Amino acid sequence: MSRYFTPALRKLEPYVPGEQPRVQDLIKLNTNENPYPPAPGVAAAVAGAVPGLRLYSDLHCTALKSAIAAQAGVEPENILCGNGSDENLMLAIRAFCDADHPLAFADVTYGFYPVWCDLFGIPQHIIPLAEDFSLDPAAYCGLGETVVIANPNAPTGRWVAPAALERVVQTNPDNVVIIDEAYVDFCDEAPENASCVPLTKKYDNLLVVRTFSKSRSMAGVRLGYCVGSAALIADLDRVKFSLNPYNVDSLAQAAGAAAMQDKAYFAQTTAAIRAARSWTAEMLGGLGFTVLPSQANFVFAKTPKMGGEALYKALREQKILVRHFAAPRTKDWLRITVGTPEQMQALQTALREILA
Ligand code: PMP
Repeated sequence: MSRYFTPALRKLEPYVPGEQPRVQDLIKLNTNENPYPPAPGVAAAVAGAVPGLRLYSDLHCTALKSAIAAQAGVEPENILCGNGSDENLMLAIRAFCDADHPLAFADVTYGFYPVWCDLFGIPQHIIPLAEDFSLDPAAYCGLGETVVIANPNAPTGRWVAPAALERVVQTNPDNVVIIDEAYVDFCDEAPENASCVPLTKKYDNLLVVRTFSKSRSMAGVRLGYCVGSAALIADLDRVKFSLNPYNVDSLAQAAGAAAMQDKAYFAQTTAAIRAARSWTAEMLGGLGFTVLPSQANFVFAKTPKMGGEALYKALREQKILVRHFAAPRTKDWLRITVGTPEQMQALQTALREILA
């Protein structure tokens, strides 16, 4: 740290992303990326956008928003696009919280929420999950605080039905409730029952955050969007235009619109992940693991035979990378991204050997 670094930020503990090693033949199951490539139409769409790179990108992501709006069943004015969900969550927390307006969230959830609070001087109201890592929506009802809930949650994979979350939105009418749906496309439920997006039409204090990083196989594009009332989106736009107006580059806009249009590919790849998830949960159960019920593209599991960190290291020796979170409540567990059937079979072989 240099002596010039502002004192206000000297104690800031940055978010630690999962490792991104550039090692050949590593089975990478640590950052919930999709094992399948982006939709086939993405390459041509990106190539087609290259001549336009001379110009700044479309400030309003017009074509991309239309493609998203058509699928989400909302209007383009209900959408804001950003540089990954990370940027949209940051904009929302910046817009709807401050030193006198805390952010409420679970003790075991996406590790970036507390970091944004620290960066912006926002108090945190941390609400513990139950012993089995389930979230009780009642704990968020009538709070009178801005709320963020990841649904399905990370790193647990647990999911709460939108009907149960509706009470949270309804009973906090003077505050924004942010539902982070990074993983919702992997739910077994039909999309209209899995997602809180339909509720955005009923409640002007609900903001739903979605990403192209997981179910659309484009973590490297850095593209996400949120859905909410036109007034909430306008607030976020004010913050966006005060930070980084051209936040979504032209290649990302083209890639996103093309990915959104290929419904068949999306259905096929998300179904493949769901099938591999059930197989993986059963396989781990067979090896004596406790596995939380997951609706995401990862499973959260632990074995009585070995500590989380030791197993993480043993898998790494076998060139399989998973995620271990050292915090007290999660230290015995591993979060394992669901990959291809072949990758999950390799995981099974490695685990059998390690645990023998
Ligand atoms: N929310 C949750 C719950 C996540 O796990 C992630 C991925 N790390 C994100 C948001 C951010 O996703 P991205 O910025 O890639 O869209």
